[in-house]
Amino acid sequence: MSISQNLLRIKSSLPEEVTLVAVSKTKPISDLMEAYEVGQRIFGENKIQEMAEKWELMPKDIQWHMIGHVQTNKVKFMAPFVHLIHGVDSLKLLEEINKQALKNNRIIDCLLQIHIAEEETKFGLDQDELNVLLASPTFQKMKNIRVVGLMGMATFTNVQNQIKKEFAYLKSIFDDLQPLNIEQCQLSTLSMGMSGDYQLAIACGSTMVRIGSSIFGGR
Ligand SMILES: *Cc1c(COP(=O)(O)O)cnc(C)c1O
Repeated sequence: MSISQNLLRIKSSLPEEVTLVAVSKTKPISDLMEAYEVGQRIFGENKIQEMAEKWELMPKDIQWHMIGHVQTNKVKFMAPFVHLIHGVDSLKLLEEINKQALKNNRIIDCLLQIHIAEEETKFGLDQDELNVLLASPTFQKMKNIRVVGLMGMATFTNVQNQIKKEFAYLKSIFDDLQPLNIEQCQLSTLSMGMSGDYQLAIACGSTMVRIGSSIFGGR
C-alpha cells in the first residue's frame, strides 16, 4: 500500500474528534508531500533541526508538532513556527519556551508529558511533579505559553492489559485536572497512541494520535 492509501485508510477509521499527527521523522520530503497532497496538514517530528529544515522547504499551511524530547538550547530554532510541543516535562523547559515565544511575539501551545510506562527510559513527569509544576508561581506568571493538554507513551509491550492500564491512568489524570482554573491551562488535548496501540488509546479517551510507521512504513 502507498503512503496516501495508508493515510486515507487510517484517517477514515478514526472518530471525527480524534486528531491525526502524521509522524514523519527520518522520512524524505517527497513522502511527506504524498501525505500532504491527500489533505494531511499536521506532521510530527522528533528532531528540531530536521523539523526546521522541512518547515523551510514545505508549504506554509502545515502545522508542525514536536513530539520528541526537547533540549532547552534548541527551542529557539523552532519557536518561530512550531504549532504544538508534545514532550514538555520540566519547568525549566517551559521557561525557555516562554522566553523564545515572547521573542517571536507568539503564544506557543504545549502538552505536558506524563510518565506512564514501566520503562525508566521514557521521559515525563510523575503525578507529584505535575502538581508541583502547575502550582508553581513561575509557571502561573508565564504569558507566552499555553498548556493545552497531556501526552504519554505506554510501555513497549504486547500485553494489551498493561497498555490499557497505562492509558486509563493518563486519562484519569487528565480528567482530574479539568476543574483546574489557571489561565495558562486549557486542557483539551490528550495525546496518546502510536501505530501499535492507537485503537486502544482511542478507546481509553485519546483525542490525538501520533502515527508514523503505519503511514510511512518502517524506519
Ligand atoms: C516515533 C514516534 C511515534 C510514532 O511511532 P510509530 O510506531 O511509527 O507510529 C509516536 N510518538 C512518538 C513520541 C514518537 O517518537
